[in-house]
Amino acid sequence: MAQQVQGVIARAKGEPVSVETIVVPDPGPGEVVVAIQACGVCHTDLHYREGGIGDDFPYLLGHEAAGLVESIGEGVTNVMPGDYVVLNWRAVCGDCRACRRGKPWYCFATHNATQKMTLLDGTELSPALGIGAFCEKTLVAAGQATKVDPAAPASAAGLLGCGVMAGLGAAMNTGNVGRGDSVAVFGCGGVGDAAIAGARLAGASTIIAIDVDDRKLGWAKDFGATHTVNASSTDAVEAIRAATGGFGADVCIEAVGHPDVYKQCFEARDLAGTVVLVGVPRPDMTLDLPYLDVFGRGGALKSSWYGDCLPSRDFPMLIDLYLQGRLDLDRFVSETIPLDAVEEAFHRMERGEVLRSVVTL
Ligand SMILES: [Zn+2]
Ligand SMILES: [Zn+2]
Repeated sequence: MAQQVQGVIARAKGEPVSVETIVVPDPGPGEVVVAIQACGVCHTDLHYREGGIGDDFPYLLGHEAAGLVESIGEGVTNVMPGDYVVLNWRAVCGDCRACRRGKPWYCFATHNATQKMTLLDGTELSPALGIGAFCEKTLVAAGQATKVDPAAPASAAGLLGCGVMAGLGAAMNTGNVGRGDSVAVFGCGGVGDAAIAGARLAGASTIIAIDVDDRKLGWAKDFGATHTVNASSTDAVEAIRAATGGFGADVCIEAVGHPDVYKQCFEARDLAGTVVLVGVPRPDMTLDLPYLDVFGRGGALKSSWYGDCLPSRDFPMLIDLYLQGRLDLDRFVSETIPLDAVEEAFHRMERGEVLRSVVTL
């Protein structure tokens, strides 16, 4: 029987979000209903509210979540009721050209639940990133739920569902950071700090954090930066070269999404090094690089989608590392808040005061 639960809705562009009653249908074939225990507040939620992602209002916000599987639909085999899961927004299809080539993290046909959650009057909701987890229960495709060790608290585990995974994966998967590498990370918010944590976990010996905000550089140190550079007062490229014997970093990670920052990454990279873009640019931005240097400096210019993660491979492994004390996910949690405090959390995020506010249920 369909259930009525409370959820955070963005009704119209720029309007404050509100908690409303939503209707969650029973899971159909290939779907599961998950009772949410925690969900992080991400810039993407705010971006939906601001109309920056589409015009399919009303949106059911929230997408960095963990919880318990409540019920499963026909044909679901990867999870059972009672399983503790982290949600993801890329349920790979297993059948597209990327999946068939053995690179499912590039899957071009990821899927979501087929049925719609609605408001009481029947208005269909658009769940953020196909999840919608600022609510007591949500309906997703079974492949969007990945079972992990229940010993990890939901406030920490849920963060793997989006920004933290993007940053960890930018370093570990896309950048392929290895033992003894030097890594420079531009932008030290949640994604950048996760890239720093990922670089440390992968064995980087020099990790240089670059930001214009000393508070964020302090966070970067907590996550493992060995050097910090405030780019508002210091030339970042010179500072990175100075910290790497004059050569530049093996891997430069751009976690801002701005062409000027990308150029600094490009210049601060050692010959044959790698640039990883994980920050999301705006549609009007363009990039201008000296073409001869693109050739002459060699190496790789890569983009990282969701950290090139494979949730079924990466989530359980990262939770295990967390439980062993090797990956401090708790440090990303600046505060836990109730469902009705998402609007204020957006404002704190805009002011750069928090790494992550996490709604707990
Ligand atoms: Zn696929
Ligand atoms: Zn997100």
